[in-house]
Amino acid sequence: MQGRRVLVVGGAGYIGSHCALLLQEAGAEITVYDDLSTGYAEAVTGRLVRGDVRDRARLETVLQEGRFDAVMHFAARLLVGESVAHPLAYFDTNVAGTCALLSAMAAADVRTLVFSSSCAIYGEPRTLPLDEAHPFAPVSPYGLTKLMVEQVLDACREREGFRIASLRYFNAAGAHPGGRLGEAHDPETHLVPLALEAAAGWRRIRLFGRDYPTPDGTCIRDYVHVWDLAEAHRLALEALWAGQAGRAWNVGTGTGSSVLEVIAAVERVTGRSVQRDDAPRRPGDPPALYAKADAIRQDLGWIPRHPDLEVTVEHAWRWLQAPRYGRYPRRP
Ligand code: UDP
Repeated sequence: MQGRRVLVVGGAGYIGSHCALLLQEAGAEITVYDDLSTGYAEAVTGRLVRGDVRDRARLETVLQEGRFDAVMHFAARLLVGESVAHPLAYFDTNVAGTCALLSAMAAADVRTLVFSSSCAIYGEPRTLPLDEAHPFAPVSPYGLTKLMVEQVLDACREREGFRIASLRYFNAAGAHPGGRLGEAHDPETHLVPLALEAAAGWRRIRLFGRDYPTPDGTCIRDYVHVWDLAEAHRLALEALWAGQAGRAWNVGTGTGSSVLEVIAAVERVTGRSVQRDDAPRRPGDPPALYAKADAIRQDLGWIPRHPDLEVTVEHAWRWLQAPRYGRYPRRP
């Protein structure tokens, strides 16, 4: 990785910023390309170039001038509910944006890419744990955009000489273990930060459904530490540089936690209670989702270093007590 030049598209956002920092620590030279529409300049590692992922001409210039060895692509819209209300904006940014990036990469002859995909492409699970061969049936336009992009990427791998890894994330959570970076979505919709904000006394949390067919009646998800996700990106990139054509890999711990288990972990870590209200199910939420992540272990040697939910929550809590960016009402 030493001295390799990597363009991190969407590197000012939650997962992108953690990956950029981890790659820099591994010796890479980082440039972040981001329009800062949802990301933060304070989260950027290396040089920041402001730009839109749909701006093919600008991307081509940046890629040609920077003589990059690879691109990591995180720039996307990610709100499932918003994607149902405004699907076109999602196809535009997520699908057309990725096509613009790929065309610019081909023009600049940079053909190594790691892409942020999602377990949302599987839809309602037919079998658990979910492996990569599970059929694709995304429920939301958001999930559909990720599937469409994966199909475009398959064609680029087969016909355009690209090496591409797609990483299908389960639920990213936590923060940089040293507190330098964290999750600061606005609006925040994710369970771990919302439960922590409730512990801080800033809000109450709604439990979306108590009548699921799970042991405690709440949904089960696979919470993977964001620093472990970042490590998966590093390993994927190394494999591509070593000559592999790449493929899609699930990235999850393989263990599911229910909403009530997450809240209990938040209460243990913070020593405070989480004020909660029952609320109706959120449309499109399957009862349980957790990964079979054997392929990435076998192919890349990826092992989650922070598989314990409490550690993930602890790092997210550390961040929330001293956030370096983001809009927060007041310190917990
Ligand atoms: N959830 C909840 N209350 C909230 C936010 C989330 O009960 O305020 C539940 C949600 O229904 C899901 C789980 O927590 O079962 C994780 O949701 P999140 O939005 O964090 O991630 P997703 O699984 O939708 O990607």
